This record gives sequence, C-alpha cells and structure tokens, in this order.
Amino acid sequence: MRVNLENTTQKLCVIGDPVLHSKSPLIQNTMLEALGLDYIYLCQPVTPEDLPSFLRAAALLGYRGLNATMPHKQALLPLMDTLSEDARRFGAVNTVCIRGGKFLGYNTDGVGFLRALAENGTSPKGLRVTVFGAGGAAKAVALKLAQKGAARVTVCNRTAEKAAALCTLDEQGVLRSAGFDIETLRREAWQTDLLINCTSLGMHGTQGQFDDFSFLDELPAGTPVYDLIYAPPQTKLLAEAAKRGLPAYNGLGLLVHQAVCSLELFTQTSIDLALVKRALQGVLAGP
Ligand code: NAP
Repeated sequence: MRVNLENTTQKLCVIGDPVLHSKSPLIQNTMLEALGLDYIYLCQPVTPEDLPSFLRAAALLGYRGLNATMPHKQALLPLMDTLSEDARRFGAVNTVCIRGGKFLGYNTDGVGFLRALAENGTSPKGLRVTVFGAGGAAKAVALKLAQKGAARVTVCNRTAEKAAALCTLDEQGVLRSAGFDIETLRREAWQTDLLINCTSLGMHGTQGQFDDFSFLDELPAGTPVYDLIYAPPQTKLLAEAAKRGLPAYNGLGLLVHQAVCSLELFTQTSIDLALVKRALQGVLAGP
C-alpha cells in the first residue's frame, strides 16, 4: 500500500502482543486513503510491561489515538482518564483517543456488532439470542443485544462460572447462562432466533473445533448464524449452517464496523460507509 506522508500527517496505531497478524492497519489505511484524511495508521507491538510507558510516549509523539488488541484491553482500563459507558460495562477498552494529553477509553465491539446485524436487516428487538462463549467478545455482544431490546440472551459456555459472571453484569435482566454440552445446545437451539458463535472454536491457529453440529438441525428455519471468526472466512460452523439453508455470516462485518466506529472517534467525523465499503472490497478477500 502506498502512503503519502506530509508534515501534518496525524498518527494512529494498533497495539498488541502479538499484533503483526492484525488486519486493522490494512482496514484503517484503506479507509483513510478512500476518505482523503491526512492520517497514517501503524502496527505497534507493545508488551504488557511496556503498556504504561508506551501510552505516555504516544501522547508525547502526538498520536491521535490507538486501537488495542490482546492482551491490553483490560489493562488499559485503569490507565484511562475517562471511560465510555460501554468500555466500563464490558470491562475492556479497544479504542483510545488522545486529546489534550488525556486518554479517553472506548469499546466499539458492541456497537460494531449491532451495525453488522443491521446491515443484514436484523434488529435485536424481541429476539431470543443464543451466544456461544463468555469471553471478551461474547460480553460485548451479549450485553449490547440485551441493552438494545433482545427478549432473551442465553450465554452457553464451557466454563460455567464465566457464563454466570457475565450474566451478573446484565442490567436488563434478560441474560441467562447455560452449559456447552451438546444436549444443552440442542435444547437451546429450538428456542433461538439468532445464534452467535463468540468462542474461538474453528479459528485459524487454534486447536479447537465443534465436534457435533446437530444443534443446527434444531434451529427454526431461517435463523441467522453468526461466527465472529473471520479467518478462515468460512468456518466449519458457517459451512454446516449454509448446508442446512441457514443464513450464515462471518466476523468481517464486526471487524469492519468496529473499525469504522473507531475511526469516527479518532477523527470526530461521521464516515461515508458506502465509500469505505467500496474501498475495502477485494482488500479483505482471502484467509
Ligand atoms: P476470549 O476472551 O479468549 O474467549 C474465548 C471463548 O472461547 C471463551 O468463552 C472460551 O470458553 C471459549 N473456548 C475456547 N476454546 C474452547 C473450546 N475448546 N471449547 C469450548 N469453548 C472454548 O476470546 P474473545 O476475545 O472473546 O474472542 C473470541 C472469538 O471471537 C475469537 O475467535 C476472536 O477471533 C473472535 N473475535 C472477532 C472479532 C471481529 O472483529 N470479528 C472481534 C473480537 C473477537 P472458556 O470460558 O470455557 O475458556
């Protein structure tokens, strides 16, 4: 990718450990170029012990903001001057704006997932949602769907205590926890209007895979199946869902929409979504 650097060019980056696999620089630089914004977005490995000093350095160097991935999302919380409502509720920061030497922490995962859903014509209002997993992504998705009017959100997780802990954060009283054994998944599936996999099962580079997809047979016809994973672009879960005629969506929608939300915060402008989506077409193809 060709980047034009001016003396006035504003700096952004993604931090993580590891981070070199991140698609954020590709997505953000493509969007910045398409929008004609004078910014550059870099990829910055930062170890956990270097996080506080990196933040101070970023402010000193005039960075306008940064995105954070594993393992920094929780560690950033106490380092922020202010936290958005979502960052506080989800207990994680994935976007930091640096303004006037102050660090403002946000979390764009919940809103990003809502926008991805809306793009496919789905509103969470009144839906019975089943979420697989109770990690960081599941927390953002489940709590946001509850806040936006889902009738019920069932959190199915391998480690029961983590699902139970997530449900205690729900202010709407619509979250409930359940197990991750196949009988439970089959039983929950037939009362599900929207299924979302927020576990790492099926992701490139991890060992785990679903060993039984029979829960998909129990879903009502037409139930959308989302997998937050985008590498590979079609997980086994999505392939099995498509085989059964169910609408199946990967994690690219969330990836792009949370990036757009971050860019809106960094630049304090609204983004022309149609324009950036055209620019991203093709750029994001492949594993
Ligand atoms: P996380 O906090 O580490 O949570 C991982 C979840 O997966 C936990 O609920 C864990 O269950 C479950 N899990 C892992 N291995 C399992 C296995 N063998 N069997 C059953 N459950 C298993 O990770 P995260 O940040 O929430 O991310 C979860 C997934 O979402 C990842 O694949 C990530 O790539 C994807 N993601 C995508 C986007 C996007 O932009 N599209 C954004 C964020 C995350 P336990 O609690 O029992 O360990």
